[in-house]
Amino acid sequence: MHLQHIRHSTVKINVNQFTFLVDPMFSSKEELEPVANAANTLKNPLVDLPIPIEGILNNVDAIFLTHSHRDHFDDKAISKVPKSTQIFCQPEDRLKLLELGFKNVVQVNDQIEWNKVNIIRTGGQHGTGELAKQMGPVSGFILKAVGEPSLYVAGDTVWCDEVLNAIKTYSPNVIILNGGEARYLTGDPITMGNKDIELVSMAAPNSEIVVVHLEAWNHCLLSRAEINNNIITNGIENVKVPLNGEILNYDLKLIY
Ligand SMILES: [Zn+2]
Repeated sequence: MHLQHIRHSTVKINVNQFTFLVDPMFSSKEELEPVANAANTLKNPLVDLPIPIEGILNNVDAIFLTHSHRDHFDDKAISKVPKSTQIFCQPEDRLKLLELGFKNVVQVNDQIEWNKVNIIRTGGQHGTGELAKQMGPVSGFILKAVGEPSLYVAGDTVWCDEVLNAIKTYSPNVIILNGGEARYLTGDPITMGNKDIELVSMAAPNSEIVVVHLEAWNHCLLSRAEINNNIITNGIENVKVPLNGEILNYDLKLIY
């Protein structure tokens, strides 16, 4: 399995000769307004894509959408992704995608099989308490294919029972976490911070953990350097923080 971290939560996955794209967000640097009520007023995204959109979409067999907030599926992606593309989404986003003109939208209720790839939807909490309710439903996905490492894309969630359950139930070999500790001026963070990442690392000591959703959106305040410093300080060995465009390879034989 190869992963290419593109930017923010956009990740390209090669598994079982198929290519999947998670949460396409294609806007150019500073093309979008800042998130309001945040600690800064920087326009989004904070950085440009590391490769051209055409290269990102090249060979993509299907898209996974964890939820439809604009930092995960923006107007540029809506216009650039061919309308015939196979999209897997949470039930709550199906109608919106159909209304946008996408023709091959499959909502994953619990799990489905697609070309011998097992796709399992997982839950999450986009924050805590009332704020999580306001943020709306979010999902993650687990991908399993024979002979390939299993992958858990957690999506926009903080550490919560749903994440723990996904780890305990499916023992994924590789886990992608959305870090950045996104937050508003008031309220708790709505994506993972260092403590959440540590808790995932402790719950999944044999998994390779990859942290994305960093340094690209104005209310994501936790930096790569802060995560890397925490990893070193606490001797955490199974967490990686890729740069935009970085490719990671996982071979089942090397993981076990
Ligand atoms: Zn997000």
